[in-house]
Amino acid sequence: MLYHSTNKQSSPLTFSQALLQGQAPDRGLYMPENIPRLSDHEIKRFCRMEYHKMASVLMGRFIGDEIPRDVLDNLTRDAYDFEIPLELVCDKQYIMRLDRGPTASFKDFAARMMARLMNHYLKREKKRLLILTATSGDTGSAISHAFLGLDRIRVVVLFPKNEVTPRQRKQMTTLGQNIHVLGLDGKFDDCQALVKQAFADPVLRNLNLSSANSINIGRLIPQMVYYFYAWSRLVKHDEKIIFSVPSGNFGDMMGGIMAMKTGLPVEKFIIAVNDNDAFPTYLNSGTYDKIEPSRNCLSSAMNVGHPSNLARLVALYGGMMDEKGTVHQQADLSMMKKDIWSTSVDDETTSQMIKECWTKHHVLLEPHGAVGWAGLQRFREQFTESHNTVAVSLETAHPAKFPEEINRLLGFDPELPPSLSGIEEKEESFAALETNYGAFKDYLLTGFS
Ligand SMILES: *Cc1c(COP(=O)(O)O)cnc(C)c1O
Repeated sequence: MLYHSTNKQSSPLTFSQALLQGQAPDRGLYMPENIPRLSDHEIKRFCRMEYHKMASVLMGRFIGDEIPRDVLDNLTRDAYDFEIPLELVCDKQYIMRLDRGPTASFKDFAARMMARLMNHYLKREKKRLLILTATSGDTGSAISHAFLGLDRIRVVVLFPKNEVTPRQRKQMTTLGQNIHVLGLDGKFDDCQALVKQAFADPVLRNLNLSSANSINIGRLIPQMVYYFYAWSRLVKHDEKIIFSVPSGNFGDMMGGIMAMKTGLPVEKFIIAVNDNDAFPTYLNSGTYDKIEPSRNCLSSAMNVGHPSNLARLVALYGGMMDEKGTVHQQADLSMMKKDIWSTSVDDETTSQMIKECWTKHHVLLEPHGAVGWAGLQRFREQFTESHNTVAVSLETAHPAKFPEEINRLLGFDPELPPSLSGIEEKEESFAALETNYGAFKDYLLTGFS
């Protein structure tokens, strides 16, 4: 199985090479050259399989013989040791809570697997890696926890000092060891720009840089598994299912679409975004205009004006979009619309959903999950024939990560999960950095050469 770049200029790589490299040299993103197709029989067997075993079977098909099956079995068993609650809200509509990992967001699913795979390959090749990652809050903590204590990997996290909550910050800054954290005065986009410039800088080449953002194919493949899991637990025989995915950089959604291309019976993906609505506009008009600067909304982890993974979606539907968002070849939009429906949800509706779900159904959502839920409600209003189909809306973070918002709307503080408790007392350590590439480069060369 080979992986090729969406920009079509770099040579194809194996899974382990693409994983360790992150972004392709031509600035494109790696995609499998063809998506393996599971038989109906293989898919039905998932109904009796534990999550970690499903993960091993599915991911094994994408990695090929580059990793022995028993090794992969052990890695997935070790990575997936937490619950995945599926909660019935009303009328065949469920919430899937992907927030029970160590940092209480769905990013743990990918980060934990990616760290284990990278460490496996680095040991084999006796190599070291310096991971650079920009975060708007949740990626930084998921990656830091997943890589903490690994001896072949050091991590540098850049975050916008004034745009993450104190709780999100403490999840990164209280770890120490091989995790180095930098707070910037700018926005998430500034952090991302510094990281991208560092990847392109030949002077830094011998630092062996890699990325843990969702441009890395190692983030996407683990994100297929929970779609199979939901279907295997909620649907009888080979009926179809609807998913609603609250989306920012579109990594979560790409996991779902790849699961469908592998054979999962999906009726529709609802892609719910906040005010950053470049995608629903593109889907309906064929014209793509990224949003610059990105718009600030309550669902802050989805404040992305130009979703990187859109290039992958366009490639999967036969088109080509470069890293800047220019469409060089149009995707088959009518095929895309068969699979995907998309809508933009504003902050007022997001807040209203949190209130309504709590008062009507006693189900607690946080702002990202509320965007997904709002998308599903809108879809069902428009397409009443969908009411017979099981629908699952993804809850991507734990409500306790957003206590200020929940308290404002509902008048109480959400209970802390074990993963978040005790964090207030821990000591923080992070460096402040000017938003300027020269300063960042000096920091890397001084500390990590
Ligand atoms: C990152 C994140 C998202 C968006 O996921 P993408 O893969 O970037 O689309 C949604 N919700 C939460 C809580 C997140 O942390």
